[in-house]
Amino acid sequence: MARTTRTAPPGAVTTTSTLVGTTTVEVRRSPRRRRTVSAYRDADRVVVLIPARFSAGEEREWVARMVARVEGSRRPPRGDDDLGRRAARLSARWLDGRAQPVSVRWVPAMRTRWASCTPADGTIRLSRRLQDFPEWVQDYVLVHELAHLIEAGHGPRFWQLVGAYPRTERARGFLDGVSAAAQLPIADDLADDLAEGDLGDLGDDPVDELAEGDDLAWPPAAG
Ligand SMILES: [Zn+2]
Repeated sequence: MARTTRTAPPGAVTTTSTLVGTTTVEVRRSPRRRRTVSAYRDADRVVVLIPARFSAGEEREWVARMVARVEGSRRPPRGDDDLGRRAARLSARWLDGRAQPVSVRWVPAMRTRWASCTPADGTIRLSRRLQDFPEWVQDYVLVHELAHLIEAGHGPRFWQLVGAYPRTERARGFLDGVSAAAQLPIADDLADDLAEGDLGDLGDDPVDELAEGDDLAWPPAAG
């Protein structure tokens, strides 16, 4: 029986290149792969191998997750290990792995804010007060701070990113309720969480995506 040669024979691996954050990623779809996904670093890029049957959405999710894992193992965020791993997981799941903090750590309970982020140096701090709250509330705060590494202000683009986390509205309500009940001077949950920094120095992030005119004061004005 004669064999025909096709340009893309079934069983062939197809390769595409994409960018996750600042990482160049080569995605290889293999028909032989059923369930397993694997990834490794190869020079200045990350290679991710996925089953050919994955949908575009599955591809995005797994590529983000695997890139975060490969990059995370190479350069773990400083600070609390668990918190750093959790932040990497949340970034991969809800922010396409685009938020890559340099450090994530717990800090002593702050009276005027739940958390803070300095986009200029990629650091995130969470108030220990949050440790008394449910995990899904802590996760919201982490997603919120992680999103600031992509979008610094509190504009519509920022809330669009944070809205990917399904319990955002519930968590915001929870935090508002706690502030009110404890009479904490924390206005509008995380409105004052951005620390001053040189916002023009965000590495490879396009500076023109930063919302201008947002209140980035640190510390927030008294009263
Ligand atoms: Zn914020």
